[in-house]
Amino acid sequence: MRVNTIPPVDLTRQYQVISREVEGKVLEILRSGKYIGGATVTEFETQFAQYIGRNYCVAGNSGTDALYMALRALDIGEGDEVITTPFTFIATSEVIVRVGAKPVFVDIDPDTFNLDLAKIPPAITEKTKAIIPVHLFGQPIDMTKLMAIANKHNLYIIEDCAQATGATWNNQKVGSIGHVGCFSFFPTKNLGACGDGGALTTNDPTIAKKIKLLREHGLVREPGAKVTYRHEITGLNSRLDSIQAAILNIKLKYLDIWNNQRQEAASNYQQLLENVTKIQLPSAVAGGVSVWNQYTIRVKNTSQNEELTRDTVRQKLQQQGVISMVYYPLPLHLQAVYQDLNYQPGSLPIAEQAAMEVLSLPMFPGITLEEQQQIAYGLKDCL
Ligand SMILES: *Cc1c(COP(=O)(O)O)cnc(C)c1O
Repeated sequence: MRVNTIPPVDLTRQYQVISREVEGKVLEILRSGKYIGGATVTEFETQFAQYIGRNYCVAGNSGTDALYMALRALDIGEGDEVITTPFTFIATSEVIVRVGAKPVFVDIDPDTFNLDLAKIPPAITEKTKAIIPVHLFGQPIDMTKLMAIANKHNLYIIEDCAQATGATWNNQKVGSIGHVGCFSFFPTKNLGACGDGGALTTNDPTIAKKIKLLREHGLVREPGAKVTYRHEITGLNSRLDSIQAAILNIKLKYLDIWNNQRQEAASNYQQLLENVTKIQLPSAVAGGVSVWNQYTIRVKNTSQNEELTRDTVRQKLQQQGVISMVYYPLPLHLQAVYQDLNYQPGSLPIAEQAAMEVLSLPMFPGITLEEQQQIAYGLKDCL
């Protein structure tokens, strides 16, 4: 039987919905001759701040830059420690090293894949300045408990919301609860540009001002945005260009619809797969609303299940036309780049086990029920 190939993500389905609007706007910008900054970017910053529920949004070039600028704006650097999760994309810890601070990895919760809150306090030292929680796969971490820890120990919280734009904790958007929220607009994120992009959100005017300085070489602008060629701090070049801002302005209007489609797809998976043994489905935490950047199951790695590893399941699925992904195959504390931090295999066992068992099924706005049924049959067939 010939089956259709189902990719892990298909961005063309979103694009079909908005293509006329986007192409019209992009042509307008191309013809305007104004490609960097200006009203389109400011409009996006205003809209996005409002959407997240913060007073300030500063747009930048990527989620990585957003995290980097957040650390810089909070004066975190040499001699400081920042607690984060080993089970995330490398960008989260990379920026900690780039500012000269030390990442301290804390193990994760086996059900949510997010930081295990109980393991954070024992990792806090007099050098700890901040925690970077990641709302992994779109699922918010318990921000109430996390803020209580932060307040008790006088730490900053920089939320890595790269995979969770639109997710809420107790009806508040992620990125509006910690001191700074960092977002990525990489194309496959919930709000994705047609290229790179990122943003920071905060309610603190001093932080917002410093981020604006940083993103443009520490450049002081006079009222009316006039360039002065006076530079106050060492910054970087992290601007969002006008075409990306215009596309994001259009896509932001559709974000809730697309997130709802992801939520529907997640509940379809739940129904299609709930009685399947040998796998564990993602679990929701009361208080959090996930936006399902990924739908990640576990293929349980037990002694009864020896023949059936995650990797064999993945291969068999592929033979049936279903392309799944592994986020992430090697936790950060065991990466070659962090050898000098001296973590050993076994030091963060929950993350290490997750890395062996996780499998992310196709998930994107516009995935059809038929495709999800094909995925579910395929999965049952190889278990
Ligand atoms: C994508 C991602 C980033 C980095 O964002 P870029 O825009 O690609 O730089 C950071 N953290 C997490 C958790 C991500 O998924």
